[in-house]
Amino acid sequence: MAEFDYDLFVIGGGSGGVRAGRLAASMGNKVGIAEEFRYGGTCVIRGCVPKKLMVYASHFRESFEDSAGFGWEPGNSSFDWSKLIANKDREITRLEGMYRGGLDNAKAEIFDTRAILEGKNQVRLLNEDRVVTAKRILIAVGGTPLRLAQIPGEEMCITSDDVFDLKKQPKSVVIFGGGYIAVEFAGIFNGLGTDTTLVYRGDRILRKFDNDLRGSLHEEYEKKGIRIICNAVPERISRQRDNELSVSLSNGEIVNAEQAMLAIGRIPLTEGLGLDAAGVERRWSGHIAVDEYSKTNVEGIWAVGDVSDRVPLTPVAIHESMCFIETEFKNNPTTPDHDLIATAVFSQPEIGTVGLGEDEAAERYKNLDIYLTRFRPMKHTLSGRDEKTMMKIIVCGNSDKVLGMHILGEAAGEMAQILGILLKMNATKSDFDRTMAIHPTAAEELVTMYEPSYRIANGKRID
Ligand code: FAD
Ligand code: NDP
Repeated sequence: MAEFDYDLFVIGGGSGGVRAGRLAASMGNKVGIAEEFRYGGTCVIRGCVPKKLMVYASHFRESFEDSAGFGWEPGNSSFDWSKLIANKDREITRLEGMYRGGLDNAKAEIFDTRAILEGKNQVRLLNEDRVVTAKRILIAVGGTPLRLAQIPGEEMCITSDDVFDLKKQPKSVVIFGGGYIAVEFAGIFNGLGTDTTLVYRGDRILRKFDNDLRGSLHEEYEKKGIRIICNAVPERISRQRDNELSVSLSNGEIVNAEQAMLAIGRIPLTEGLGLDAAGVERRWSGHIAVDEYSKTNVEGIWAVGDVSDRVPLTPVAIHESMCFIETEFKNNPTTPDHDLIATAVFSQPEIGTVGLGEDEAAERYKNLDIYLTRFRPMKHTLSGRDEKTMMKIIVCGNSDKVLGMHILGEAAGEMAQILGILLKMNATKSDFDRTMAIHPTAAEELVTMYEPSYRIANGKRID
């Protein structure tokens, strides 16, 4: 009789968990996987996928407006929120089915239950009220939106977990935060015609990004009518007689809106997970502490994705799982590579970026050549829209190596995916210079900026 019920038990059926469960099962291992909500996890059910569908929906208003400059006479257009939500729901149900189907075909045993650790090799399946044993346990439970419990009235705020299921489109919204989710939803709501205010605690949105990207997006958002209030946080929220929310901010301002949304980061879902019962260590932030192979301090227990304190993105969770499979099931120890991860913010215009921002680069490198361009994209010469594209290349002045690339503009995310490959290959600026342009595209600017816009030496800008 086998020593354990399973070769691998996965807790969490999101991006990381499903990939590991499916791969391990397809290799003939006995795999169990438990999901307490819906298979597909955050990305599929209430993250990347529904978000991107809503981004697409929110682009149409400007497309209709822009068409006039090209000779079109757009008819009366109107937007039906319920229809978008229903169509989005149909698509994510289809994807959820594919995730389950993939596990099923690989012969993984699928459980629809919350699962918690009961000991080193033991998992309790709550709905079934029983304990199973496993040689290896993979924790892939992801995260959940951070709340601001200390603020009176904060329970009236929605988060990204609720926004995809709102019964009706709010006439007005105030969004707290200045990171990915806040910025993306400000663009979505504004595009769909909701009066949108963004409240951020710092002096410029998207703190972790290159300063020129931040400044340019800020300008573009304000041009579109998004109100951005910086250096402020909510202090009190109350409901008024007309059912609107009234938000008192730390700077003394009061903002009224039909909905208030918190987008102030996510925390790992480790509470009540039984980590102490199994002796699994956490970091101060609550994230599970793992080594470079995603192993926890307890033999046989691993953690991947958002629950571990690395880079909380879907492809990263999947990559960490694939490395776990290589290491543990293919006898090929493989550490995930977190260097030079290209990323997109699906703002409007979009951001695509990879590598170091200017400030970060200046801290690490003595000499930098900075190539920067801002231009009106060809499409807007006829549409008349006042929107600029920005492109920036940060190059090491000594080695000619490209250290960072930052784009704000249409299809920036698509460009950044390819630029990510170039940076991984250690591309130099000369490689860009000897590449023929594709005309007419916006991306041709990336290979035709021959002279630096300015240089940086020992942290000081030289024009
Ligand atoms: P998750 O996908 O969160 O999966 C964890 C699963 O575990 C969940 O389904 C949860 O229900 C389940 N679970 C938790 N506890 C238990 C338990 N005890 N028992 C059983 N099941 C449990 N990333 C990108 O790369 N691109 C994007 O465009 C993007 N957009 C995003 C938009 C939003 C609004 C949000 C919130 C996130 C977005 N992300 C995006 C981040 C991305 O969704 C996450 O990085 C990714 O889903 C992490 O995968 P994971 O497997 O670690 O966790
Ligand atoms: P982010 O970390 O991107 O942003 C959090 C924001 O909230 C920051 O502006 C932060 O400010 C602010 N904040 C944090 N704590 C407080 C507080 N107590 N009061 C007020 N403001 C606060 O998190 P998100 O929630 O936007 O997204 C979570 C993660 O999901 C992202 O980090 C990203 O990895 C992933 N994601 C990826 C997307 C993509 O790939 N396109 C899209 C959406 C999410 P400050 O910067 O000053 O710390």
